[in-house]
Amino acid sequence: MNNIDLQNIYTDNFNLQEFANSKDGNRIKLNLNLVFIVQKLRQIVGPIHVTSGYRTKRFNASVDGSPNSNHTKGLACDVQFDFTPWNRESLIRILKFLGFNNVGFYWSGGNVGKNLTWLHIDIGLPHAGEFCVMDWDTRGNMIKMEAR
Ligand SMILES: [Zn+2]
Repeated sequence: MNNIDLQNIYTDNFNLQEFANSKDGNRIKLNLNLVFIVQKLRQIVGPIHVTSGYRTKRFNASVDGSPNSNHTKGLACDVQFDFTPWNRESLIRILKFLGFNNVGFYWSGGNVGKNLTWLHIDIGLPHAGEFCVMDWDTRGNMIKMEAR
């Protein structure tokens, strides 16, 4: 049996509890490289709120997640931070540099570049090219996908 206290600080600013699926049995499966890279991102952008980390298949289905979502593999998380100092292009450069493979921008109202609501960041295989950027509206409709 592997019992770990998810609350134990894992990096300077994150503990594993923040990446657990607390709404479905508090389960967790996580590639720890994800936490390390999110910590690096935190050092650039400041405090980060992880709004969704690992998702069980059941929970993922309940939130209409893509069936093969990297959230179900412990390779993805959704985050919010103070987006105001950053534009889309600067975030793309930072996220690519840090080693994420897929990035999803969720724009309230669906206007790319306006009202960023949350970011999906993941280290799964890129969906296109070597680094894939997707823009979505906050209802989950894809606006565009580009390989970078
Ligand atoms: Zn996501």
